[in-house]
Amino acid sequence: MINAIVAYLIVFALGASIGSFLNVVVYRLPANLSILWPPSRCPHCLHRLGKKENVPILGWLWLKGRCRHCRSRISRRYPLVEAITGILFLLVFWKYGVSVPTLGYWGFVSWLLALSLIDLDTMILPNSLTKSGLVGGLLFQGTVGFFQLSPSTGVSQQLMSGIVGAVVGIWLFEIIAFVGSIIFGQAAMGGGDAKLAAMMGAWLGWKYLLLSGFIACVVGAFAGGGAITLGWLDRRKPMPFGPFLALGAGLTMLWGEAILSTYLQLFFPLR
Ligand SMILES: [Zn+2]
Repeated sequence: MINAIVAYLIVFALGASIGSFLNVVVYRLPANLSILWPPSRCPHCLHRLGKKENVPILGWLWLKGRCRHCRSRISRRYPLVEAITGILFLLVFWKYGVSVPTLGYWGFVSWLLALSLIDLDTMILPNSLTKSGLVGGLLFQGTVGFFQLSPSTGVSQQLMSGIVGAVVGIWLFEIIAFVGSIIFGQAAMGGGDAKLAAMMGAWLGWKYLLLSGFIACVVGAFAGGGAITLGWLDRRKPMPFGPFLALGAGLTMLWGEAILSTYLQLFFPLR
């Protein structure tokens, strides 16, 4: 029991630290700034953060959300992203335990979260992230094949599943974009979404990619419709679709089997 609690605390701390790094990536990558240098600093006065201030979540609480030097506010989003990353790491660990998939999916959720936040901020899904994420997905498939199936045939089998998933991702996107343009009478999505779908296909395989796309469309339609009804969103303004795709991928990664079997039982009960 104690061991389990310690393990979960370590996993959460690891996730929160990765989240702290994701904050840097999300802030600097769209601005074409170096991700590794300089170290974390206040965006207003450029004062460098000390060790204690750099601790995820706790650092922000300790500073009460203000820079120690110039007293300007530090966005609540930073500790929030750190906490969310920690929770996502916990969920993956809870589902997959000590295993190769856990390590892989920690990477996958980090990519998804960074892409979602950048899409929300800038309406762009950077090529550097979707492409590296796709390569990461294929590496993940090969590794899972090697360790969990068989070193001889498992690698090519899993790699094939990843490649098929990526190709279906691009097709799926073409279809969604086409249907969306009929419903909304405008280009529904940007080109980055297709690359994100391809990346997701590489990680999840075609079956779970389709499920992710379905979830993304349903949730996106409700959220978009709701936001327009409430007047939060202009109908003519584009809505970022990346976060919905990422949400679909996350739900599918954690509960794909359960969602799929419930869905099939609801609509095809006689199977
Ligand atoms: Zn400052």
